[in-house]
Amino acid sequence: MADAPQIPTVWTNRALLNWTTEYLAKKGIESPKIDAQVLLAHVLGCKKVDLLVNFDQQPPEADRNRFKELIQRRVNGWPVAYLVGTRDFYLLTFEVTPAVLIPRPETETLVAEALAFLKPKSAPAVLDVGTGSGCIGISIAHQKKDSHVTAIDVSPDALEVAKRNAAKAGVADRMTFLQGDLFAPLPAGATFDLIASNPPYIAGHEFAGLQAEVRDHEPRAALDGGADGLAFYRRIAAAVGPFLKSGGKLLLEIGATQDEAVRGLLAAQPDLEVGPTLKDDAKHPRVVTAKKK
Ligand code: GLN
Repeated sequence: MADAPQIPTVWTNRALLNWTTEYLAKKGIESPKIDAQVLLAHVLGCKKVDLLVNFDQQPPEADRNRFKELIQRRVNGWPVAYLVGTRDFYLLTFEVTPAVLIPRPETETLVAEALAFLKPKSAPAVLDVGTGSGCIGISIAHQKKDSHVTAIDVSPDALEVAKRNAAKAGVADRMTFLQGDLFAPLPAGATFDLIASNPPYIAGHEFAGLQAEVRDHEPRAALDGGADGLAFYRRIAAAVGPFLKSGGKLLLEIGATQDEAVRGLLAAQPDLEVGPTLKDDAKHPRVVTAKKK
C-alpha cells in the first residue's frame, strides 16, 4: 500500500489505532481517529474507552485481520454505522443495515421537541411516517412511557429493522408497525396527538454533489425527494389534516434550505397553523412545526 504509514513490529491497540488513524486520514476519511476506535472496539467486542485503558494489549491475529478488512471497506466508502451495524441516537443504540437511513444527530432536535409537546399529555397517540430504523418513534415511545406510537414505512426490510429496534428498546408492546406509502396503511378515522416525519428530501440535482458514502450506500428511497426535493412535503401537507386531532402537532424535518418552501406548503392548508421553525445544533433551520386548528 503506497500510502501506508510505517509498520510497527508489535501490534498493540495503540499501534493499531495510530497506524489506522494515519492511514484513514491519508485516504481522506473525515474523522479518522474516531472511526479507527469505533471499528477496533467493534472487532474486539469492547467499548472505545476500554481500548485506551488497555493501550498495550495485543489483539490476536484473527481480530487484526477482521479489523483490516473493515478498514478496507471504510476506505472504499462504507459508512462506519453499516460496518459495525449500530448507531447511537438520542438515548438509545439502534441497529442499522443498508435497508435504513443512518440516524442523524439533527433528527434529535425533532425528538426533543416532540417529547416537550407530549410531556403534559396523558396516553398520547403518536405517528412516525417513514420510520426507517425507527429512531424517531422508538425514542419517543422510550421516553414517553404512556404513549402509543404507530410507525409506518414503505420498505418491509426497514420495518424489520425498526421492529427489532423496538424490541431491543423494550417498547414493542406500545408500538404498531404498518407497511405502506405515507398514510395509506392507517385505519379509517385514525387520529394522532403528534405526527412526525423525516421524509426523503434530497432534490434530483443535489445527488451528484452528495457525499459519496451517503449517495452510494444509504437507501435511495430514504433520500430521494423528487425533482425539487419537496415531493413528500407536498403529499404530506395535502393529506395530513384528517389524521391530526384538534390542537395536534406536526413536526417535519427539512433540509437546511427548505424552510420557506415547506412552510408555504403547510400554510396553504386551511386546517393547519404554521408554528416556529426549529434550528439544529449547527443553527440550520431543521424542523418545521404546525398545529391542527
Ligand atoms: N425516520 C428515519 C430517520 O429519521 C428515516 C428517515 C428516512 O429514511 N428518510 O432517520
